[in-house]
Formats: sequence, C-alpha cells, structure tokens
Amino acid sequence: MGHRITLIPGDGIGPEITEVTKECIEATGVDIDWDIQEAGECAIEKYGTPMPDRTLKSIEKNKVCLKAPLTTPVGSGYRSVNVYIRQQFNLYVCLRPFKFYEGVRSRYSSLDLIVIRENMEDLYAGIEFERGKKDTADLISFIKKTTGKEIGTDSGISIKPISVTNSERIVRFAFEYARKNRRKKVTAIHKANIMKFTDGLFLDVAREISKKYTDVEFEDRIVDNMAMQLVQKPELYDILVAPNLYGDIVSDLCAGLVGGLGMSPGANIGEEVAVFEATHGSAPKYKGMNKVNPSALILAGVMMLDYIGETEKAETLEHALAEVIKEGKYVTYDFRDPGDTNCVGTREMGQAIVSKLK
Ligand code: NAD
Repeated sequence: MGHRITLIPGDGIGPEITEVTKECIEATGVDIDWDIQEAGECAIEKYGTPMPDRTLKSIEKNKVCLKAPLTTPVGSGYRSVNVYIRQQFNLYVCLRPFKFYEGVRSRYSSLDLIVIRENMEDLYAGIEFERGKKDTADLISFIKKTTGKEIGTDSGISIKPISVTNSERIVRFAFEYARKNRRKKVTAIHKANIMKFTDGLFLDVAREISKKYTDVEFEDRIVDNMAMQLVQKPELYDILVAPNLYGDIVSDLCAGLVGGLGMSPGANIGEEVAVFEATHGSAPKYKGMNKVNPSALILAGVMMLDYIGETEKAETLEHALAEVIKEGKYVTYDFRDPGDTNCVGTREMGQAIVSKLK
C-alpha cells in the first residue's frame, strides 16, 4: 500500500514549487497517495481561517505532511500558521541541513552543516502584551514592583520562556542525530552572558546532556560570535543546536553560505507527526512567474522520503537534483550572477530533474 501524505501547496510561489516537487517525487517511482489540503492566505476566502479544521485533521491522520510556504502578514493580522502547526502537533525539532551542491553560487565549497532549532518556545511562544493595553500596564507595574526596573508605558512586551524540558529534548535530539549520522561535533548557541535565566538555563542543560555523549565533541558559542565564525570559518562546524530565535536567524545565515534560501530544506519533527518544508517563505513578488528555484522544497521531499523509510528513492532524487545543478544548463535565476539571463524557469528545472529519473 502507498504512503498517504498531506500536501499543502500554500501561498505565493508555493503552488508552482509544489507542482514541480510532486512530479519529481513521483518520478522516483515511490507510491504516494497525496491528500491535498489548503492553508494560509489562500484558505481564508474559502474557509474564513488560514488553518481550516480539515487540514489539521488530515495532518493528524496521515502523520506526515509536505508543506509549501504560507504567508504571514507582518506586524498585524493573523499569527503565523507555520508556528501554529508546530505548536499544535508538538513538532519540537526543526531540523535544517545546509549542504553545498557543486554548481551553486557560493563563496564556500563542500559545506555540510546541520542546524537543529528548538521549535516550541522562546520568543516564538506567542505570549505578547500590546502597547497601551491594561494587561501591559499591569505587567509593567508588576515588573517595577518586583525588580525595581522601569519599562516605558508606551512599550510592547514579548515574553521569552525557555524550559529545562524543551531544552533537554532538543539537545538530546542533536546528540542522537550526531551519533546516528556519524557526525563529530555539537555546538550549542546562546546569549547566556546577558540572559542568564533563559539562555543560561539552555547552556547548563546542554552541558549536562553532553556528558552522556562522550563520543561526540561538544562546545558552545555566543550567538553574535557564532554569526561571525560561520562567515569566516564555517568548515569548523558540524551540528549547531539553538533555542528558537537564534536557530531561525542562524538558519538563514547558513542558507546564505550554501547558495541561498532556494537551496535550504527543513523538517519539523515531533514524537508522532512530521512536517517537511522549504526554509524560505512565499516570496509573493515572484508569484505565478515560473521563476524561483524549486530545490528547497524538492530537498524537503528528499528528507520526507528518508523519514518514511524510502531512503533509496530519497538518494536517487537528491542525486538527480545534484546532477542538474552541477551541469548548470537547466537552472533558475539564483544560480546565475545578477544580470545573467541564461537561466530557465521553475517548471523547466523540474523537467530536467524528472528526465534524470526516467
Ligand atoms: P521569502 O523567503 O519569501 O523571500 C525572500 C527572498 O528570498 C525573495 O524575495 C527571493 O529573492 C528569495 N527567495 C525565496 N525563495 C526563493 C526560491 N525558492 N528561489 C529563489 N529565490 C528565493 O521571505 P519574506 O519575503 O521575508 O517572506 C514572504 C512571506 O513568507 C511572509 O509572509 C513570511 O511570513 C512567509 N514565510 C513563510 C515561511 C514558511 O512557510 N515556513 C517561512 C518564511 C517566511
């Protein structure tokens, strides 16, 4: 029997890269029964919500989902559906491989970094107090009373919770991943010198867990230093484990090292459910233009095939994509220098990958 998998084509460039990714995955010969569902901006008109119940139920039932990017309005409007899905299914791991493929435009070569980002808490917990509201004023006076610190009455406040439980499980996942994949080193990222009760806690937990994995090297870096080190000497790093916000920012930095967001896939993993996606967003300015790079979602498909036990098919698909990139004949604009128009569209790059699989 085939694998039943929820497929969310998403917003902006989502439907274009989804169509190509689906064709590439099917060309490996894997038997998948897609359960196509809507979410994001495109679901609002039809269902009155960016996250329809039927989509949630589909993910809950199928347990595996391949999701294209979803648009989140900046500053106001509905909260991120991506964050909602992670919290709803307790997808506490965000696993992002950043691998260099020959033919990609990059200042570096042969990089192979893994970012493991905590997905549930930190400043992404969604606990916020809006400027001018009564609850915000109450919180400001509570803080003044208990700490003596003044917060301006025209401030908004976002809360950053970091727990032992969530820190333990993400750091443990990083070490287990290192062992399983024969990786040598785990580096924990933090700002424990400034935020002692949150990042300090994360670092203490990481140091404690590391003692149980003496076969894997462990070190830590303050996030600002980490950013500089990744630009100067990324080859020194292997697996990076971080609380939510630093993990998000460092991910995009690493994407920049290996050719940009168009090359960077990700997986959100919990005990029961896993959602695979591109690291990039819905790039609305390129919507419907048959222009963007489909590789990130295709590589998310590779991770998904591996997760469902179709490892050989995953390797075949990754190899076909790598070949097309290396040959450099049928690649999208972001593989070229600015101004170089010798490129093809999303669909044409997809067709080149499919033809390698036949
Ligand atoms: P974005 O990643 O959509 O785009 C930023 C830029 O990166 C684009 O303008 C483009 O130059 C480049 N880019 C992105 N994807 C590319 C691809 N496949 N090929 C080539 N170039 C590519 O980021 P943004 O503009 O900050 O966000 C747009 C929307 O996407 C927002 O609503 C945001 O909330 C949402 N978003 C969603 C997710 C997700 O679904 N997981 C992730 C990030 C952002």
